[in-house]
Amino acid sequence: MNPEIVSPRARALTPYTPGEQPQNRKYIKLNTNENPYPPAPAAAELLSRYSAESLRLYPDPRFGELRAALAAWYGLDPEEVFLGNGSDEILSFAFYSFFDPAHGPVLFPQHTYSFYPVFCTFYDLPFRRIPLRDDFSVELEDYLDVRSHAGMVIANPNAPTGMSLDRIELEAFLKRYRQDRICIIDEAYVDFGGESCAELIREYSNLLVVHTFSKSRSLAGLRVGFALGNPQLIETLFTVKDSFNSYPLNRLSQEIAVAALQDRSYFDDIRRRIMTTRSSVSSRMSAMGWTVLPSRANFIFASLPGVEGERIYTRLKENGILVRHFKHPGIEEYVRITIGTDGEMDRFIEMLQSLDFVRR
Ligand SMILES: *Cc1c(COP(=O)(O)O)cnc(C)c1O
Repeated sequence: MNPEIVSPRARALTPYTPGEQPQNRKYIKLNTNENPYPPAPAAAELLSRYSAESLRLYPDPRFGELRAALAAWYGLDPEEVFLGNGSDEILSFAFYSFFDPAHGPVLFPQHTYSFYPVFCTFYDLPFRRIPLRDDFSVELEDYLDVRSHAGMVIANPNAPTGMSLDRIELEAFLKRYRQDRICIIDEAYVDFGGESCAELIREYSNLLVVHTFSKSRSLAGLRVGFALGNPQLIETLFTVKDSFNSYPLNRLSQEIAVAALQDRSYFDDIRRRIMTTRSSVSSRMSAMGWTVLPSRANFIFASLPGVEGERIYTRLKENGILVRHFKHPGIEEYVRITIGTDGEMDRFIEMLQSLDFVRR
């Protein structure tokens, strides 16, 4: 192929690297923050009686039922809810909708979800990484100090640290943050003990809260994400969506998501289980000499001082356990470990006890 066929724009892209999804060997998979428990039983039940006939028709481009169900869950109006094919798609629409390169860089934390810089490159948006504090927490004050910028995005709880800001801190920040710029809060992990800012969207018309069914609702394969915000922000997202693909969320996904939302007690049960397992794994690892950051997500970020994260990753992988490590300066010694079932985490701890990680 003649390389000229590929546009300079496409040539310049550096895509996001998702965690491995090995198809060959069976691993204990603690690397992509999937939920170890199955989706709500109502999802399986719906699938078992699903009639393929309805797939003849396009899905609802305004997500009527699902929008109403989410609005009811959060005590909001349907006009304050947007849906996307995973929250990644919503983030992509939001970056396009609300960040203007003429305003300066998009701000986000030094260590955070690595899709943010990818979207910036895709849309030709400059960005600036704001350092974390020494304890890896987000310093909001620093975002107020950057005079010209295009807006900001933070994950709360943050990834890959798992650390979280309280709503009261975020609200105090929003009170002072400029009204003419957007603040996107990515709440992919908030259901595992964090505090949602969903209720603040009425007060702050420049706040967009983004959320997903992938983690706390065990539906990563369904690809359903949603955003909560001022109706005008939401309408802007619809305009962008309808300029790209009007039917992003398929029929089945919309219906299964509605069914899954009905089962609140199952949702509460699995997220509590994950939080309980998280706290026991954290304390067992601390007792073994690991540094474990305080997590309010379904993963923990931990290090064995003096040992490269890559080495820990490799040794575990050789032994059938997948975790994730990042070669970014400042966090090279850390690995991110998704919380699995109790049985999986017992195997993981046994493996840590049996392996000899040679220190530098
Ligand atoms: C997993 C994740 C998402 C994306 O989730 P989708 O599967 O696209 O809904 C978004 N933000 C963060 C911080 C995540 O970890």
